[in-house]
Amino acid sequence: MKNMRHTALKEHEKTVVYVGDVVIGEGFCVIAGPCSVESEKQTIETAIAVKKAGADMLRGGAFKPRTSPYAFQGLGLKGLKILKKAKEETGLPIVTEVIDPRDVSWVSEYADVLQIGARNMQNFSLLREVGKARRPVLLKRGMNSTIEEWLNCAEYILDGGNRDVILCERGIRTFETYTRNTLDISAVPALKELTHLPVIIDPSHASGKASLVGSLSMASVAAGADGIIVEVHKNPSEAICDREQTLNPDEFSLMMGKIRMLEKFMEGCR
Ligand code: PEP
Ligand code: MN
Repeated sequence: MKNMRHTALKEHEKTVVYVGDVVIGEGFCVIAGPCSVESEKQTIETAIAVKKAGADMLRGGAFKPRTSPYAFQGLGLKGLKILKKAKEETGLPIVTEVIDPRDVSWVSEYADVLQIGARNMQNFSLLREVGKARRPVLLKRGMNSTIEEWLNCAEYILDGGNRDVILCERGIRTFETYTRNTLDISAVPALKELTHLPVIIDPSHASGKASLVGSLSMASVAAGADGIIVEVHKNPSEAICDREQTLNPDEFSLMMGKIRMLEKFMEGCR
């Protein structure tokens, strides 16, 4: 770990992030919701379903960093307003992505946690801007990035005075094509050795397959992650993006039961 001023490194006390009543860094935090905010009905129905199944926070993108410029780019401000309504309805804090440094201050009025997506992990001007924000930041790992590069990006945020950084492993590119990415599960214990920051897993973008999300979520608990962020949609077959990797409410609810059981078991193993 060269050229780091070491604010992300383990010599500091463990970071616990508080978002309203939700704690990240103690216990296992579950963030769930659609890939993107599509409509008020879709978002609120999904929010109610994930809340009922025991999720701690709601995810949903209003700004979507899409591979193609012709793909759905998100509802923007309208999407953020829908997320605000979903929060009023369920009490779930909102995790949503910000993709442009110019949007950080006003998106912070709607978001409880600002997500930096994999494609923007090394967008240094964006990192500087969220470093100034008064909101926790969920920093996703770039799909082609090493752990050291990732921690240096966390460093940019910490250096701006924002101490509330949550790291999110979401799979990296390898030669394997069966899965969308390859979940680097070893990043969890590696980061636990290296940094005081909480670490969560995104099993949805890591696998690209709904059928694998449950197993990877259980692996996240067993590996010692502080939580997961998982895509759930009221009706995945109608989802505008990432439908193949999205759970329906019943699948999510079933998975939640198993997660909470494994969590209890793991407590006894520590
Ligand atoms: C997302 O979580 O909505 C997303 C786009 O994920 P990633 O940045 O990991 O691809
Ligand atoms: Mn997605």
